[in-house]
Amino acid sequence: MKEVVKAEEGEVFDIELEADILEANEKLATENKELLRKHGVQAIDIMGSIGSGKTSLIEKLVQELKGKYRMAAFKGDLTTTIDAELIARHGVEVVPINTGKECHLDANLVRKALQRLDLNSLDLLFIENVGNLICPAEFSLGSEKRVVVISVTEGPYMAVKHPFIFMDADVVVINKVDLARAMEVDVRKLETDVKKINPNAKVTVMNCRSGEGVREVVKALGL
Ligand code: MG
Ligand code: ZN
Repeated sequence: MKEVVKAEEGEVFDIELEADILEANEKLATENKELLRKHGVQAIDIMGSIGSGKTSLIEKLVQELKGKYRMAAFKGDLTTTIDAELIARHGVEVVPINTGKECHLDANLVRKALQRLDLNSLDLLFIENVGNLICPAEFSLGSEKRVVVISVTEGPYMAVKHPFIFMDADVVVINKVDLARAMEVDVRKLETDVKKINPNAKVTVMNCRSGEGVREVVKALGL
């Protein structure tokens, strides 16, 4: 095997532009957070790759927490509202956010979506990001907690290959645990990998289709 080609600092195209964008995003994220806090709304980011189970997790959380909290959701997707409709079935307000070609949500899009909601009538807001384990790590949205969903069908190396998204995660959900044997994935090893990257992350195991394990996620979120 040849030596790895490594991008050096300053060598990547658009690096300065990117620094400016991230700074502007941070500022808006802080404003979003202040606005949410002012209204007593706790926002929770749900991040993970395509098909990991972010939408099903939100659906199960909404079902579990109905009656205890007044909830809403933002659903980031490139063009569709498929997931937004799935969540809305459970009787919560959903604002779909279409990012076009962008592979992540940013604080500006969240700021615009917040204007669509009556924050006084809410306690909890789930923000489902675009399916992607890379750039959502860099773009704060103004949430109080960050959840990363990974599933055993994505293979045994999800955590070690994408360390940055796990560094700031409060809760990591390992999903589709019912398929672990068929996929020959060691769930405990995945958990250890996450803990190595972020010892503070609470790791829970779940089957988002059946809902098994949802109470542990609720507990891990302190809800
Ligand atoms: Mg989804
Ligand atoms: Zn992106």
